[in-house]
Amino acid sequence: MVQLERYLRPHWWYIFLTMAIKLLATGMELFIPDLMEVILDEKVPAGELSQIYLYGGAMLLCAAACLGGNILANRMSAVSSGRITRAIRHDLFWRLETLSARQMDRLTVPSAESRLTSDTYNINQLLARFQRIGVRAPILLVGGVIMTMRMDAPLALVLLCLLPIIAVVVYFVTKTSVPLYTRQQSVLDGVVRVVQENITGIRVIKALSKTEYEKERFHGVNEELAAVDQKAGIITAITNPTASLTLNLGLTLVVVVGAFRVHSGACLSGVVVAFLQYFTMILNAMLGITRIFVMWSKGEASAKRVAQVLAEPEDLTAFPPAETEGDPAHIEFRDVCFSYTGVGENISHLSFRLERGQTLGILGPTGSGKSTILALLLRQYDPDSGEILIDGRDIRTIPYEQLREKFGVAFQNDFITEGTVAGNIRFFRDLPEEALTRAAEDAQAMEFIREKESGMDSEVMVRGNNLSGGQKQRLLIARALAGDPEILILDDASSALDYATDARLRRCLREHYRDTTTLLVAQRVSALRHADQILVLSDGVVIGAGRHEELMRSCQEYRLIAQTQMGEGKEGA
Ligand code: ATP
Ligand code: MG
Repeated sequence: MVQLERYLRPHWWYIFLTMAIKLLATGMELFIPDLMEVILDEKVPAGELSQIYLYGGAMLLCAAACLGGNILANRMSAVSSGRITRAIRHDLFWRLETLSARQMDRLTVPSAESRLTSDTYNINQLLARFQRIGVRAPILLVGGVIMTMRMDAPLALVLLCLLPIIAVVVYFVTKTSVPLYTRQQSVLDGVVRVVQENITGIRVIKALSKTEYEKERFHGVNEELAAVDQKAGIITAITNPTASLTLNLGLTLVVVVGAFRVHSGACLSGVVVAFLQYFTMILNAMLGITRIFVMWSKGEASAKRVAQVLAEPEDLTAFPPAETEGDPAHIEFRDVCFSYTGVGENISHLSFRLERGQTLGILGPTGSGKSTILALLLRQYDPDSGEILIDGRDIRTIPYEQLREKFGVAFQNDFITEGTVAGNIRFFRDLPEEALTRAAEDAQAMEFIREKESGMDSEVMVRGNNLSGGQKQRLLIARALAGDPEILILDDASSALDYATDARLRRCLREHYRDTTTLLVAQRVSALRHADQILVLSDGVVIGAGRHEELMRSCQEYRLIAQTQMGEGKEGA
């Protein structure tokens, strides 16, 4: 919890007050058996009725104060722990959003999810319950021992002899169960991962008849989790029966030893009754302390996992603004090299210049680095060497928000949110209605939107499940166009469109977005042939660059691709 101390700091006073109230309430509870003993041993034999009422009233008062104080403190602990967890969750979410793509690759999405959910929940539980049991249990334990010692020291020794038995059990259980709980958390990460992959990929899994395989896989992680759960359960299950056994043993011993002492006149019978109550309290306190140990180690493990994300260093640091150089291109890559993992280059020595309004086409087999170029331009990753400039400024000197505003982006597998068609195009931006219609028109999405009953307000299901592949793509392109971006990035974004629609889309882009610089990744030569520049990539290396006609002459690979797609070449726009 040390790592999250700064979240606790603003609430110290409140927590302190909560614990003070809890302390008072628990203190009151400790006096109840004591008062009862006085009534039984002194007031009843003396027959002082008014005194009995007085002490009885005091007992009631103690009970009421104890009840009230406990309720108040418990509510307060829920409030402060809720607020602290909210702040932690808020910062954690924000940090996860701002992690660089490279950091996210390392962390993995399922782990991020469980940190945000189950780990923050563990922290919340620790905070809330520590303020409750954390104060109550030690006070009941120590207070109970003191009270019994004060009443009848020899009888109290009977209790003290039994406590080590429980202490040993508690030690053993805590020591073996804590590592199990830590393991439980990481196994849970695995379950989340498998479930997430399954739900996102359910259609593919069904289509490829992988259902049985996936069932097996889920069965595997499920079994593992169950095994860890069981083991932890079996070990912790020892605690309660042992505790009950010790309790009953203790109660019997107290009665037996007490009977002898009462008989010999060494103590009064009320003391024995009070002892029985104190012993129950002390034992429950011991069990409470066990729970705190377990909670603490769970919370501590979770706090570490959360703090680890919060402490991630700023990966994509902003450089100080630099002077722009004379006659800058709109976008320029200068000898850029990049590798995702540090093993083998995914982009090597890439250079190109794009003037404002020009279109760059990128072609190449899968895995050749096309999307990587776009990711670098979007600054999801920083290059290992070389520079990327926009308007002559290194993109690392441009503030993140400013950089983001320049782009309109459509990826092939981008996500469509649940809501309306218009909402998906607007995508949480402040855009006028006309911009949405214009974008939908240009993206060739209007034809299918019009066919829908409520047009732009038609409903879109989660992940766009009620749309066809081509319809989804057009919606995504409309989203990219709606902001009237300075730079348009289309990564294989029209692959599902039929040729005629694709051609119309390209004509609209050329005619209506003259000032927009476009980067276009496509598999079809026909989609790129009007581009001002085309890069042909292979394994991160540019093997051909130039216009369509030039490449047809100079680049054999390009010519081969174009020829295999023959027939498309004639289909023009
Ligand atoms: P496609 O046409 O299939 O989309 P692409 O040309 O866009 O392919 P990239 O996504 O740029 O290919 O990937 C280039 C290489 O980088 C591939 O070998 C891929 O395995 C690797 N790669 C991509 N993303 C990551 C990542 N996050 N971590 C590690 N390696 C990655
Ligand atoms: Mg790609």
